[in-house]
Amino acid sequence: MKEINASIITIGDELLIGQTIDTNSAFIAQELNKIGIWVRKRIAVGDRKDDIVTALDEASLYSKVVIITGGLGPTADDITKPVLCDYFGSTLKVNEDVADHIREIFQKKYGQVSERNLKQAEVPANCKVLFNKRGTAPGMWFEKNEVIFISLPGVPHEMKGLIEASVIPALKELPGLPAVLHYNLLTAGVGESVIADHLQTFEDSLPPHIKLAYLPSYGNVKLRLTARGENEEELAKEIGFYFDQLKIQVKTWLVTDSELPMQDVISQILVDRKQTLATAESCTGGFIAHLITSKAGSSAIFSGSVVAYSNDIKTSLLEVDSKIIEDHGAVSEQTVRAMASGILKQTGSDYAIATSGIMGPGGGTMEKPVGTVWIAAGNKQNLVATKFHFRFDRKRNIEMTAQAALNLLRIFMVNEE
Ligand code: ATP
Ligand code: MG
Repeated sequence: MKEINASIITIGDELLIGQTIDTNSAFIAQELNKIGIWVRKRIAVGDRKDDIVTALDEASLYSKVVIITGGLGPTADDITKPVLCDYFGSTLKVNEDVADHIREIFQKKYGQVSERNLKQAEVPANCKVLFNKRGTAPGMWFEKNEVIFISLPGVPHEMKGLIEASVIPALKELPGLPAVLHYNLLTAGVGESVIADHLQTFEDSLPPHIKLAYLPSYGNVKLRLTARGENEEELAKEIGFYFDQLKIQVKTWLVTDSELPMQDVISQILVDRKQTLATAESCTGGFIAHLITSKAGSSAIFSGSVVAYSNDIKTSLLEVDSKIIEDHGAVSEQTVRAMASGILKQTGSDYAIATSGIMGPGGGTMEKPVGTVWIAAGNKQNLVATKFHFRFDRKRNIEMTAQAALNLLRIFMVNEE
């Protein structure tokens, strides 16, 4: 199978000193990968002409496509545009459409437009302009010695808009691109090594052009089947066959065969049932509520949360009997069950989740070491409670707890059916 190679060059001193984390090249790499373009190299360079030119020269040796981000702004440190103009032997010329767009943006915002802003409308005469709806600096498409160079603004939101609206649709038309299909599913409650052992025979049965990838995060493991071939229709049949087998293999741990994250799977079940959820969160500090409410439309299924961090709040707002906390401790089965019952009563929700644990780094004891967490989930009729041990840093323990809690509720709801 032929391959189209790409390189990504991100430009900016702030990337080199670590002030800005280069998320642009990760995003672009993922998008290129989806359409079957193989990323050979990713490189970050400062705002220096020599370094940019060297990077362009080098990338063009082994890439059909070179994508560049950053340094297109109107400030003196942004030198990408004049460097590219020089590199492609052109001169700067005003693009009237871009100029109109810039006038409109600045007139609306400030009632005037400056020379500096209007300079953004100047582009090398020999490039194709990629119109940037989300900002002022347009994207630019050049071709030289059969290599495509695409320069995009550094601002992630603007870069993404251009990648999705202009770059990917155009690159998809390149001749010689293989058909690529990705099928994803999400598992929870089991580690990747256990899954890998379990899937050994399945993996061995895959033809060479279909690959299985394990993408673990916070106690969940995403499995992705990727197929590459010439004929998309045949490929879809083939990957569909293996994907069905894969789903059967991981049935016990399967959360969804869609692209949805765990919290959205829960939301979807609640939407379908026209029911609601509330959370009583000690150690997760509202993080579960945050995950659920990050999705638009969550008001239909989420009634609210009590961040019951102190024992006082547990007893006053959630009506946990103080004797339960005295006898069993705040991190105990009895306490999380009482917290869940309390939030169900206070909110009148159909379902509840309650968490209490020791997230670290301090606060652990011999009996309850750091990472000990109790989680309860259920409804007025029935509650389940489980103890977990997480062994990571504070932030990761909180995320692991949230995912485990959502999965506990999910299993509870599925078992009701
Ligand atoms: P602008 O017109 O806004 O100046 P620009 O093309 O000049 O756009 P930069 O000045 O390089 O872009 O960066 C603009 C913003 O985008 C900065 O906040 C920068 O930190 C961020 N940014 C730049 N490159 C990246 C990257 N590779 N990953 C994530 N963020 C980035
Ligand atoms: Mg800038």
